[in-house]
Amino acid sequence: MKISFLGAAQQVTGSMYLLDCRSKKYLVDCGLSYEKDQEYSENKKFPFDPSEIDAVILTHAHVDHSGNIPTLFTQGFRGAVFCTEPTFEIVKTLLIDSANLQMSKANKKRKSKKFKGKIEDEILYSVSEVLETLELFVTIPFYKIFQLSEKVKFLFSEAGHILGAASVRLEFSENGETKSIGFTGDLGPNNSQIVVPPKPLENLNYLVMEGTYGNRIKESKNNPQDELMMHIQKTCLDTGGRLVIPAFSVGRTQSILFTLNKLYRANRLGSLRIYADSPLGMINTSIHQRFQSYLNKNAISFHEDFGSIFQFPNLYTIEDAEDKEEMDSFGGPSVLVSSAGMVVGGRVQQHVRANLKNPQSTILIAGFCAPGTLGRELLDNTGKVWINGREHIVYCKMAQTDVFSAHPDLNGLKQYFDSICEKSHKLENIFLTHGEKESLENLKNELNGIKTNLPIDLPKKSQVFDI
Ligand SMILES: [Zn+2]
Repeated sequence: MKISFLGAAQQVTGSMYLLDCRSKKYLVDCGLSYEKDQEYSENKKFPFDPSEIDAVILTHAHVDHSGNIPTLFTQGFRGAVFCTEPTFEIVKTLLIDSANLQMSKANKKRKSKKFKGKIEDEILYSVSEVLETLELFVTIPFYKIFQLSEKVKFLFSEAGHILGAASVRLEFSENGETKSIGFTGDLGPNNSQIVVPPKPLENLNYLVMEGTYGNRIKESKNNPQDELMMHIQKTCLDTGGRLVIPAFSVGRTQSILFTLNKLYRANRLGSLRIYADSPLGMINTSIHQRFQSYLNKNAISFHEDFGSIFQFPNLYTIEDAEDKEEMDSFGGPSVLVSSAGMVVGGRVQQHVRANLKNPQSTILIAGFCAPGTLGRELLDNTGKVWINGREHIVYCKMAQTDVFSAHPDLNGLKQYFDSICEKSHKLENIFLTHGEKESLENLKNELNGIKTNLPIDLPKKSQVFDI
């Protein structure tokens, strides 16, 4: 068996691993790559013939893992895409959103006088191609062994991270020998608000492990309720301002709404208004309600006690222009949760722009912001930012918290690795991926301290290993 590291190799985006088992070819994930120094259209170039891929095993719905599957389809792929049921429901919303986003960017570009190309060259795929791709999806529950071919089988186990996220244990037989490789996928922290902690894979010979936060230790010592309450107190209750929280539509939005619901039920919010302005976030919130058996015990018992994990009387969902107008004209203290995270795209950008002028507002960045994003620019605190080619002076306050992170920090990764070693006595090689180089190098040093003499590689993009 050969494994090729085709994405998320010494970078975070574009997860894609090719497994070549002589006559069969499988992909684990097929995500969009959106690195700063890379053209978006690069995603169209696959270093293999997509029609030769027999199946894609998808760990979770995030577009950096799933977003290039429709491109694969447009180039001839007709195999099955395996994932868990909640992943399928979420991925539908994200892929359609991705196609719409590409089309609206392309249309904007077309309006410019300089544009001479073809609209089809500006997009990776259309909504109708996404719908055709979705017909290839097959859902599989956690721990059900699926036989891909006579020689290859796999199962999904819980990775934490977001609803439905899976790690993959794949077993293959070659030359009379049976071996196994584990892909952690994106892992979750041990104390996620809504999903279960990651379950370590067992009996592995090879491990492909994510290292997003391989050089970071969580700073926040508070639990999510106290942390959020601290920001609400400072901005809303003490000074009557608006707390704007940019949040990804999957995972982050739900963790924040659940935390706000807990604060409301504990009588800590009074009559404070909470606005949610994220159509995609609210669709995904209802998917979370539907797949409650995939949530952690805390979330399930909260639902039993209060009838809903995410709905509460102080929550105002922005559904149309009238709702938005009502919110804009409301002068009292409030919290606004809006997509997307890192303040890139989505409705949050206009909310951030509107609140920049207000010294009583705070923009709370809930998590990491990649360099080059508006979120990062705001956090750099230079006093001004550029939005759509215009300079804006920043009068509002900025704050950041890592309490809602959907990835384990260095300590969590070490703990996870320790449990893998306890349950896998024949480990031959570890591959660290899904992290910037510095992060993976630091993680490698730390893991070497847990298990010495075990080869740990940081594969480069396109690097191939025989396993
Ligand atoms: Zn992810």
